[in-house]
Parts: sequence; C-alpha cells; structure tokens
Amino acid sequence: MKIIMLGAPGAGKGTQAKMIAEKYQIPHVSTGDIFRANIKNGTELGMEAKKYMDQGLLVPDELTVKILLDRVAQADCENGYVLDGFPRTIPQAEVLDEALTKIGEKIDFAINVDVPDENIVRRMSGRRACLKCGATYHIEHIPPKTEGVCDTCGSELVLRDDDKPETVLNRLTVYHNQTQPLIDFYTAKGVLRSVDGTVDMKDVFTAITEILG
Ligand code: ADP
Ligand code: ADP
Ligand code: ZN
Repeated sequence: MKIIMLGAPGAGKGTQAKMIAEKYQIPHVSTGDIFRANIKNGTELGMEAKKYMDQGLLVPDELTVKILLDRVAQADCENGYVLDGFPRTIPQAEVLDEALTKIGEKIDFAINVDVPDENIVRRMSGRRACLKCGATYHIEHIPPKTEGVCDTCGSELVLRDDDKPETVLNRLTVYHNQTQPLIDFYTAKGVLRSVDGTVDMKDVFTAITEILG
C-alpha cells in the first residue's frame, strides 16, 4: 500500500504516519526527517537544505525529488510506504506520479489531515522533537514520560528551529500557496480522503484505519 499524508505543518502527519507504518508494516518516509538527519551529520545536502528550512521555505524541487526517489527505490519500500511531507508541490507530485506509472504502480490513498490555521501555531510551539530517532511529542497533548527526554531512545528533546512562531507563519503561507493545490490534484485522481485532525490522536488514527481497511 502506498500512502501520502497531506496537511498543514503541524497537522499531525508525522504522528499518524508513524502509527500507520507500524500497523501496516511499511516504512515511514519523511523528507523533513531525511533533511534533519543530514543537517545533524553536517552533510552538503544538509547545509543546502538548512538555508531554506530555517526561513520556513521549501527546499528546491530538484534536490527533494532526487532524495525521495532514491529512498523509495530501496528494498524495504517494495511493498509500499507512507510518505510524510512529500509531495509538497505540484511538480513534486507529477514527478512521483510519472516514476510510479513507469513501473506500473500508483498511490493508493492521499490522506488529508485537516486542521485549521488557528490551531497550528499553538501545536507547533508545544512540539518537541527527538533529532536522534525522529519521535515527536507535545508538551500538553502528548508529553514524554520524563520532561525533555525521548521515551524511545533517551535523547534530549528540542524545539525545532523552524517551529518558532515567526517561521511557522511563513510555513503556513507556503503551505497554502504551494502544497494545498495537491488536494485538488489527488481528488482528481480519486484517491483523496480527509480526516478531522483536531480530535485526539487516537481518534484521528481510527478514522484513518477505517479508510485504509
Ligand atoms: P512539518 O512536518 O512540520 O510540516 P517537515 O519535517 O515535513 O515539517 O518539513 C520541515 C521542512 O523541511 C519544511 O519546512 C521544508 O523546508 C523542508 N521540506 C520537507 N519536505 C519537503 C519537500 N517535500 N519539499 C520541499 N521542502 C521540504
Ligand atoms: P506534522 O508532521 O503534520 O508537522 P506532527 O505529527 O509533528 O505534525 O504534530 C505536530 C504537533 O502536534 C506535535 O507536537 C504532536 O505531538 C502534536 N499532535 C499531533 N497530533 C495531535 C492531535 N491529534 N492532537 C493534539 N496534538 C497533536
Ligand atoms: Zn528519540
């Protein structure tokens, strides 16, 4: 099964994608996580991506598409995957579509996690991330067992540089201009499904599993 997660920054795509990956035994592929791992390791790709990420802008399509296509060509993606944070532009979606068509495959579902802008800034300022294992928490809604420490790997949790309110507003504008058009793109393909992302994360997941079967 090949699944795409759509939604504003902070809508809960990553949270839900991790649960989907576990239940359906497919890899969770997050372009944001790939970029952050590269930044942490000081690679050339990481340094290039950081310039855009820190401003809340998208990393250029050429760079992003290459990384994503390499990732989904790996053996563990043979039986499907859940994409989180890709595609984010129409050109990215078109490249993915062409690559899949070439091998006789297609996206099965694009799940739109719907959360209004008013909720987003609050969600993001409370988000805490583990840069080691990619786990995500929320200081009020989804707290770790010990404050500031990752439940999964014991590393320190941080507020991402791009989760500061002024950058979040830029990211929301970028979302509306560049990413939201994908809702029409996948509606036209007949694979778009929307869920209410404002309810408890478990209830969001229930709605998603009803769609995926
Ligand atoms: P969030 O989950 O909060 O929306 P991500 O971790 O998906 O954030 O992405 C963080 C940043 O990484 C984005 O703001 C953007 O700069 C960059 N990025 C991630 N995925 C893409 C993509 N598909 N295209 C362009 N930039 C991307
Ligand atoms: P995205 O990947 O779309 O940017 P995340 O999955 O990282 O979003 O979630 C953003 C923040 O909101 C995180 O702090 C996360 O713990 C929290 N969160 C996720 N789902 C919910 C929910 N249903 N209700 C409240 N907070 C949530
Ligand atoms: Zn961790």
